[in-house]
Amino acid sequence: MVRELSHYIDGQRVEGTSGRFSDVFDPCTGKMQARLPLASTEEVRNAIASAEKGQLEWAAMNPQRRGRILLKFVDLVNDHMDELATLLSSEHGKTFPDAKGDIQRGIEVVEFAAGAPHLLKGEFSDSAGTGIDVHSLRQPLGVVAGITPFNFPAMIPLWKSGPALAAGNSFILKPSERDPSVPLRLAELFTEAGLPDGVFNVVNGDKEAVDALLEDSRVQAVGFVGSTPIAQYIYATAAAHGKRAQCFGGAKNHMVIMPDADLDMAADALIGAGFGSAGERCMAISVAVPVGKATGDALVARLTERIAALKVGPSLAADSDFGPVVTAAAKERIEGYIAAGVAAGANLVADGRGLTVEGYDDGFWVGPTLFDNVTKDMSIYKEEIFGPVLSVLRAEDYDEALRLCSEHEFGNGVAIFTRDGDTARDFASRVQVGMVGINVPIPVPIAYYTFGGWKASGFGDLNQHGADAFRFYTKTKTVTTRWPSGIRQGASFVMPAGS
Ligand code: NAD
Repeated sequence: MVRELSHYIDGQRVEGTSGRFSDVFDPCTGKMQARLPLASTEEVRNAIASAEKGQLEWAAMNPQRRGRILLKFVDLVNDHMDELATLLSSEHGKTFPDAKGDIQRGIEVVEFAAGAPHLLKGEFSDSAGTGIDVHSLRQPLGVVAGITPFNFPAMIPLWKSGPALAAGNSFILKPSERDPSVPLRLAELFTEAGLPDGVFNVVNGDKEAVDALLEDSRVQAVGFVGSTPIAQYIYATAAAHGKRAQCFGGAKNHMVIMPDADLDMAADALIGAGFGSAGERCMAISVAVPVGKATGDALVARLTERIAALKVGPSLAADSDFGPVVTAAAKERIEGYIAAGVAAGANLVADGRGLTVEGYDDGFWVGPTLFDNVTKDMSIYKEEIFGPVLSVLRAEDYDEALRLCSEHEFGNGVAIFTRDGDTARDFASRVQVGMVGINVPIPVPIAYYTFGGWKASGFGDLNQHGADAFRFYTKTKTVTTRWPSGIRQGASFVMPAGS
């Protein structure tokens, strides 16, 4: 008997009633391990009703008390870290330490959000006119929704829900249908921490559930992370229904390696950032841009050597550098790109196709793949592959490297490896990409800064976490006040004089 998963509504697990399901796999064995109910419009509406009710109680609680519940949640997640990371690995396929990192980067945002009273303060102007004061308030929006991708099933739901909840909203999460078990456990831990029923709900589903959230007037805002075509669809549909939206999409992150860089450091960084989590990170490096022929030759030699030593294996095996990709369809898509790169004339230095892992014959394996001499017109350069495939595109000089990073359709993350501060500074200032690393390959900003890509990597004007999240999840009310003179003057209009 295959396990049947549920939704989480009004403080409890709720069985699906739509009769529609999707399969959740174990990517290491290739076997289906659970059935996930896909919510109907009616089920989503029930969740919204519960969220609307819960929000009133939650918003009435003072922000510091809300923060204490969030901190209790963080403690519970830490207590259950190994269990959550194991569950996450078993559905996603990332390694156990990497799964812990996924959870850790999520709870860091909840910790930050627990300090939200400071970010919920408004402004005050004394005597803006004669006898007139002006002040502003930040108030919660009400019910908000998050629609999240498979690749960070703990981190991204927490990036969205932490600030939303701290600001006094209730939250409906529509997680990825590929790895929904961790989001469901997080919902239980929120309840255990003391969150009132209905304040954090999980509806599992596909387009029907998403559209039900987008079209319902009770949902005030939608935060999305996933692929660019869906990000654009959600941004446009949310706007058409009068909602605020912040929608983050795909990526093609470049790393520039200058001739003066520490090449061993750069090669190590590329291996981790290109192949970690099987390349299924929106901040993975998928394009290396060495500047100059000598840099390119030396870098490719170092990468080739390191790739040969990589171990791809079961997610929970201690010696695996990375695990399988998430689904059979993902494996097929990635292998299709590798074939397209070969057909387009790129030099396939390491081929990850056809990898087998003993005892896991049907797992979704793709080994580390390296292409050299990639050119701008190739699909492996233009499109997001989202797998363990690293392309080397050689640049003649710094200006060409800078142009490549800036002109790409996507603008999520970028990195430069150099020992020269002037070059690094110029790069950080001019590159048309939202997040920049200097000798740091995956520059995911810490919780109190904001996370967001540019161009086709992000739609909407406010980023995730940091102060932006509190602007996104609150609405501003501005109050102008004048008080008529009253008791202070007393009944007499005559200046009392001594007798
Ligand atoms: P996806 O776009 O397939 O799915 C994301 C979410 O959208 C899921 O909840 C899914 O159920 C829902 N969805 C899918 N099709 C839909 C449709 N037609 N209508 C409505 N909803 C739909 O993305 P994914 O494969 O889960 O995640 C990988 C993608 O996410 C990559 O492109 C990656 O770069 C991107 N990503 C971006 C960031 C970022 O911050 N920019 C972070 C993580 C992942």
